[in-house]
Amino acid sequence: MRALVPPKSTPRRDRDFDRLGSESWDLLVVGGGITGVAVARDAALRGLKTALVEQGDFAFGTSSRSSRLVHGGLRYLANFDFSLVREGLVERRRLLDAVPGLVRPVRFLYPVYRGDPDRLWKVHLGVRLYDALALGFALGETRRLNRKRLLDSIPGLRRDGLQGAVSYFDAATHDTRLTLAVARSAQDAGAVLVSRCRALGLSGDAGRTSGARIQDLLGDREIDIRAKATALCCGPWQTLYPPATVELRTARGTHISIKNRRIPLDGYIALRSPRDGRLAFAMPIGSYIVFGTTDTDDRVEPGLVRPSAEDTEYLLELANHAFPAVDVTVEDVTGAWAGLRPLVAEGSAEDADALSRRHQIVAGPPGLWILTGGKLTTHRRMAEDLLDEIAPALGKMGVDVKECGTHEGRLYGGSLTAGEERLRSSGVSDGAIDSAAGLYGPRIEQLSERMERAEAADPDAGLRRAQIAMAVEDEWALGLDDLLLRRLEPGPLDLKACWREAPDAARELGSHLGWSEGETNHAASDLRGGIERDLAAAGVPLP
Ligand SMILES: Cc1cc2nc3c(=O)[nH]c(=O)nc-3n(C[C@H](O)[C@H](O)[C@H](O)COP(=O)(O)OP(=O)(O)OC[C@H]3O[C@@H](n4cnc5c(N)ncnc54)[C@H](O)[C@@H]3O)c2cc1C
Repeated sequence: MRALVPPKSTPRRDRDFDRLGSESWDLLVVGGGITGVAVARDAALRGLKTALVEQGDFAFGTSSRSSRLVHGGLRYLANFDFSLVREGLVERRRLLDAVPGLVRPVRFLYPVYRGDPDRLWKVHLGVRLYDALALGFALGETRRLNRKRLLDSIPGLRRDGLQGAVSYFDAATHDTRLTLAVARSAQDAGAVLVSRCRALGLSGDAGRTSGARIQDLLGDREIDIRAKATALCCGPWQTLYPPATVELRTARGTHISIKNRRIPLDGYIALRSPRDGRLAFAMPIGSYIVFGTTDTDDRVEPGLVRPSAEDTEYLLELANHAFPAVDVTVEDVTGAWAGLRPLVAEGSAEDADALSRRHQIVAGPPGLWILTGGKLTTHRRMAEDLLDEIAPALGKMGVDVKECGTHEGRLYGGSLTAGEERLRSSGVSDGAIDSAAGLYGPRIEQLSERMERAEAADPDAGLRRAQIAMAVEDEWALGLDDLLLRRLEPGPLDLKACWREAPDAARELGSHLGWSEGETNHAASDLRGGIERDLAAAGVPLP
């Protein structure tokens, strides 16, 4: 979804913006996706005076369009990339501890059919190796299911040639909410993060980078940020990279969603496309099933990436092939979204699928570093590696840089179980509690306190009001798209529901942000227009 322009700034954001220009910084981070906020957090915890600018909303780029898996990547075993898999599994364990609920174990099924590239025994062996690489932190029992047991648990699954499946555990999250959680932790450690600020160009002299020229997209102001070190964490945006520093290959990945009553599934399931044999997933999330992803080279301006009608057709074909009796059509699709993978180009790789998900750090001219590639799962490690590179240079400039402080510990305080219990005793429905636990993790406790203060017709409506208040006060929400498409559920999983909810949500959000009636109406119609364009591009009709 294109970034919609929110009507105005807030006093708090104005204060932060003024600080960006009037103070000088040890580190300026450009980009507020998962990579940038992780770098800001690591830097602030090492005692660096850190500023971050994001041109859209936090996570508005690739970090809100992933498959939301927190994993080592079973399929990278096929490339014998054991260290990459292991790195992901170590970070998976850390994240499960750091934000329980927001990152949670999920069960996977990997069915095998006659003629598949890998036989059942081989998949089983691969998953066992995957578990072993987790070094004592496998998340549950891995076992083989025969055909009968598999069909008993998923009766609608295609039967022809079905040999059985391997059942195992991995982890999942909500990508935007994870990005916000890390951003929040960075702010708690002292970093200043401002959204809707674009770095127009790098500044400096005598070949040394000393910050960047920044445009305030809400106030039409420009300032210079002075920083001893600058880190570009711009995902698929490459405009600020000095020539010949980084070569990225951007690949579009699309997901679509449908209501889960069409296909009852209680775990994630790996599926093969009947068209090209690529592996994809059907992922039950809340009351939806998400199918994805595609993988197509795409050089579009990253802010404009959209699913195409061909992507939707490809994923529907995958769904109907796997569940032949269901007959899902475009009418059933509730959401469709696409993101660009910022992959580090490797000359010989023919297809984007084969490119490594490793991250890359490139030192530019003195004072400038670029961090790119990688995965949502490995953001903490990426940030640690970058700061380890930057630290000696800052040390030479007299800056005291502490050791990395992100290895262990929670991202923030609060108790998942206490928060869930409070919501339950306030009469909130089980579905709404589950959804909130998956969005807020331990911060559900703070949400439950707010909910008790919210005046509303019923407990679920009170919870929604508390979520909106929290989005504005604690989570930098400035526009209706920030709220409906990234911070709340169903978000992109049900764009039709977001379209319907837009006017009411705009009124509630506008009451916190001081919008006039005109601004409120404009926000609702702008969001609706964006959704209409995205669904039309994906070939999905809006009823
Ligand atoms: C379809 C798909 C599925 C994926 N699934 C998974 C998965 O299941 N698990 C996993 O671990 N990983 C997954 N990934 C990978 C993961 O999502 C990405 O590696 C990660 O989100 C990249 O984050 P980033 O911060 O580097 O980039 P982004 O999230 O794109 O952030 C870059 C930010 O920089 C900002 N920016 C750019 N230029 C400027 C400027 N001049 N001034 C200010 N701001 C600027 C942009 O607005 C943007 O917000 C998936 C990726 C895709 C595309």
